[in-house]
Amino acid sequence: KIAIFWFRRDLRLQDNAGLYYALRSGYPVVPLFIFDRNILDDLDKKDDRLTFIYNALESIRKELISVEADILIEYGFPERIWRELSDEYDIAEVYTNTDYEPYATERDRNIFKIVNERKTLFKSCKDQVIFEKKEILSGQNSPYTVFTPYSRAWRDKSNEFFLSSYPTQKYSKNFLKWKASNIPSLKDMGFEASDYAFPADEVETALLKNYRAKRDFPADQATSRIGVHLRFGTVSIRELARKAKENSDIFLNELIWRDFYQQILWNFPEVGKGKAFRSAYDNINWRYDKDDFKKWCEGKTGYPLVDAGMRQLNSIGFMHNRVRMVTASFLSKHLLIDWRWGEAYFAEKLLDFDLAANNGGWQWAAGSGTDAAPYFRIFSPMAQAERFDPKQEYIKKWIPEFGTEDYPEPMVDHKLARERCLIAYKQALDKA
Ligand code: FAD
Repeated sequence: KIAIFWFRRDLRLQDNAGLYYALRSGYPVVPLFIFDRNILDDLDKKDDRLTFIYNALESIRKELISVEADILIEYGFPERIWRELSDEYDIAEVYTNTDYEPYATERDRNIFKIVNERKTLFKSCKDQVIFEKKEILSGQNSPYTVFTPYSRAWRDKSNEFFLSSYPTQKYSKNFLKWKASNIPSLKDMGFEASDYAFPADEVETALLKNYRAKRDFPADQATSRIGVHLRFGTVSIRELARKAKENSDIFLNELIWRDFYQQILWNFPEVGKGKAFRSAYDNINWRYDKDDFKKWCEGKTGYPLVDAGMRQLNSIGFMHNRVRMVTASFLSKHLLIDWRWGEAYFAEKLLDFDLAANNGGWQWAAGSGTDAAPYFRIFSPMAQAERFDPKQEYIKKWIPEFGTEDYPEPMVDHKLARERCLIAYKQALDKA
């Protein structure tokens, strides 16, 4: 009999909650990863994220081989694979870490049924966040829907118990000793390996010390770029939160935002299925203008900060947070294009794409989300550029033709766009 530990968005051997419990189960542990075709089949074949995952699995494999263990890597549809595994192996227990997204929740429910038919225990652990689901509730016993009181409650509760690491490595002798064959390559799965220089998985203390002063200025590159590692679990949130607690309260606050949006997605799963958090905003009469959308995607709106952001995204799969806010606001308010189009575009392009944070960010920008400013407060893309990129360094970096004839005129007049937005939003909210 064996125990299986199923890796998903927790691609590390250190401080991994589900893996820790698997290794302490008393059964030899076989780690598993499934390249899930339900997700992969919709992706661009050059998607850099596949290489990121692949690299992470290779380094896990290397560490496992050093203790004479290995990892089972499958490619296909999880339900079918789990049926096959259940036939092939004598599995006593299955461990994994909880993924809070609607697709994952449904998938896990189905896998639970499959393994349960054979009386196999299926245990899903909290690993990706410090607090999950309904761990932090308001005085009325309901989930928080506003960040500030949530963050206060989070800080009050986050003692050593919740922030300490799982000493996974102490139990590495409990992996099954075996050798895998037939590891599928990226090419076998139809993907191209990329030579992208992914950001480091370390956050420098010096960065944290300067974070408060510099984090809003996109030219400074003063944010951690740790998003992709948090997304795929190549760093532990507990380790990072402890470091943040010691060095930068404002950085810790950002990690709390991450937990906040995860609990919003869990408690209000309809936001992950295309619904506005505030339902009145689903009455907005959006413009579904493909030409305008294309200009936005390509960074050819004629608004420099918007265009620089979109070009950064298209070029390196990353966009600075301040600029994410400006570009998202521009699409949903200035162009009055459904934020879901923008959300999907970011999902395709961002290396650190995460459904909860992306949806939270988009709904915030469109005005329909938690904590949203009143709809009549509309970011001016010019004022934002003057304030946060005063020397136009970021703009010039990403728009080589800026200041020349080749750079387009603004595609909409700021004042007219603002008025159009106010009318459309007011109409929608009056209807509710
Ligand atoms: P840092 O500033 O160094 O922050 C450290 C970490 O804190 C981030 O990596 C992230 O995990 C977390 N964090 C920071 N801000 C937020 C936030 N507002 N909400 C949730 N977590 C946060 N973040 C994503 O991780 N994935 C997304 O798909 C995503 N989409 C966004 C879309 C829009 C429209 C907006 C406005 C924001 C979005 N964010 C998203 C939040 C934020 O922009 C990114 O987390 C941040 O820019 C990532 O860069 P960094 O790692 O250098 O962040």
